[in-house]
Amino acid sequence: MKTNQLFKKKTTLSFEVFPPKSTTPVESIYQTIDGLSALEPDFISVTYGAGGGTNNATIGICDAIKHKYGIEAVAHLPCINLTREEVLSELAEMKSAGIENILALRGDINPNIPPKNEFHYASELVELIRENGDFNIIGACYPEGHPEAPSMVEDLRHLKEKVDAGCSQLISQLFFDNEDFYAFREKTAIAGIDVPIEAGIMPVTNRRQIERMVTLCHAKLPKKFITIMEKYEHDPIAMRDAGIAYAVSQIVDLLANDIDGIHLYTMNNPYIAEKICSAVASLFRSKSDNA
Ligand code: FAD
Repeated sequence: MKTNQLFKKKTTLSFEVFPPKSTTPVESIYQTIDGLSALEPDFISVTYGAGGGTNNATIGICDAIKHKYGIEAVAHLPCINLTREEVLSELAEMKSAGIENILALRGDINPNIPPKNEFHYASELVELIRENGDFNIIGACYPEGHPEAPSMVEDLRHLKEKVDAGCSQLISQLFFDNEDFYAFREKTAIAGIDVPIEAGIMPVTNRRQIERMVTLCHAKLPKKFITIMEKYEHDPIAMRDAGIAYAVSQIVDLLANDIDGIHLYTMNNPYIAEKICSAVASLFRSKSDNA
């Protein structure tokens, strides 16, 4: 099923997982998926080489999510370190695995891996995918603006180009201040971007995660968030519970404000996903409930 069809019927809940490191057997991911599938998400997306590397575990994991667990799968596909031929080969592999949904990305630029220079922006990948198969194409978006963009206006202009190239759905970068998301939602509407946007929520449950997010995603940390994290950073259990509570409070507010869906960055941790989902399960609505 193409995941963009879901938004007509309901507010969605999706999860993101990453493949195990190459030193760990790929099968270890199935313990994570066992736990996550019990929470009945609308789809699970699987990252690809985040940090700039390439790996080929993504398609196999998506295949299992879809055919073994019966949950719709989204394969991430970053293009910066791939040639056109390599992308076409990935698309052929996805097609034969029955994968229908692709998150088309430029990819993180890793200073240690020179880009192949055949793709410069995700919109070029979106066009190639559109011309080579019947996939539902999803794009990434940035409520605080992409860190490399000279301005929010420029970033929105390029986001509109990406959507016009063939994206039918967007998933946002993580954020900690919902007001940033609401302001972004208004700006996308003004820019004529009219596809559903899932809000990316990352439960922060340890100090290392915060540092990584600030360097990699450039996420702004609101004062309220910093106060909580500073208070509990040396108490792992309290820090975990505070991170879960913060994510729950963000999701409650987002759902009350009629967002299209929640995309939970699970960090492959079903325990945390379960705590969050059980706290908000009754708040998700089908579209007929709102009528
Ligand atoms: P683009 O849409 O190409 O945008 C990148 C920058 O280029 C922006 O500043 C944009 O404004 C600018 N731009 C776009 N078009 C033009 C143009 N024509 N001219 C000038 N400037 C332009 N990375 C991975 O490696 N693997 C993953 O699995 C992964 N999963 C992700 C999942 C989500 C939900 C998100 C939000 C990000 C993910 N990333 C992943 C990170 C992503 O690859 C990086 O954020 C990357 O820096 C940008 O990717 P993009 O697809 O948004 O790029």
